[in-house]
Amino acid sequence: MSILMVGSVALDSVRTPRGSVEDALGGSATHGALAARQFAPVEIVGVVGEDFPRRHINLLKRCGVGLTGLEVVKGGKTFRWGGRYFDDINQRETLFTDLGVFENFRPKIPAEAAALPYVFLANIDPELQLQVLKQCRRPKLVLLDTMNLWIDIRREALEEVLRRVDLILMNNEEACQFARTTSVERAAQTLLEYGVRRAIIKKGEHGCLMFSRQGFFAAPALPLADVVDPTGAGDTFAGGFLGYVAKKNSLTDDVMRQAVVVGTAMASFCVQGFGVERVASLKREDLRERVKQVAAAMACPPVRI
Ligand code: AMP
Repeated sequence: MSILMVGSVALDSVRTPRGSVEDALGGSATHGALAARQFAPVEIVGVVGEDFPRRHINLLKRCGVGLTGLEVVKGGKTFRWGGRYFDDINQRETLFTDLGVFENFRPKIPAEAAALPYVFLANIDPELQLQVLKQCRRPKLVLLDTMNLWIDIRREALEEVLRRVDLILMNNEEACQFARTTSVERAAQTLLEYGVRRAIIKKGEHGCLMFSRQGFFAAPALPLADVVDPTGAGDTFAGGFLGYVAKKNSLTDDVMRQAVVVGTAMASFCVQGFGVERVASLKREDLRERVKQVAAAMACPPVRI
């Protein structure tokens, strides 16, 4: 079953203790799509400027990502994001955000894409996410991602989106900021009160928690000695998660749990290279092996005390 992804398609300039890149292919929809396409056909809806390098388009096409909904604005400048990571690789500072063509972007979902059953509202302005939802025709599952910026400056719109989606993905700090609490558990309960069926809270190198009204599920992140660039790990997790759900075309608790394991494995590849380089070239056998490692790390025989 196919997936619609709406989010940023970007040029990222990133510095980490392991090196730096300039104007690398990035963006929330890009990272999400390159992960999800391992499992299901993906259509991106987004916008870039005329300066967007042909080689980036070619890479996305080669990876089988559908680009009929990618608008190219004549004379426009592509969205650019710059960030820097510290020796503690969990700490990131945004150096600049140049909206460029995003400033006047009004998402137009092509008719076929509007009927797709799985939707990832990747990180963009929640006002735009609302416009997307209004054009979608009864999707089976909508997954929402967002970031601290939108909690700060678009809270009302974000609340409105939250009331209309099935799953929300946030990192620890964002969830606590949104729910105005320091407790992840309370933050998850607040998110569930908006009507989402599950709240997936990412805790970086500490893995992630998936909350529902029935309880919670936890997956560890794999300990990795060679983290190169964490940019896009969250979107890659989301893409892997939703790709797997779309492939199974099932919303059972088992499938959701398996999808968290797949998302975790996929995100672990993302951080091992700059930008999309590792995930774009990922082989199915390598992914399969890592899924096994994550699942093995979670296995425990019955404990009797
Ligand atoms: P993550 O590391 O998962 O937070 O995602 C990083 C990606 O998000 C980068 O590739 C950026 O291009 C993109 N990004 C950063 N800020 C924004 C923003 N305000 N709106 C949309 N995308 C963004």
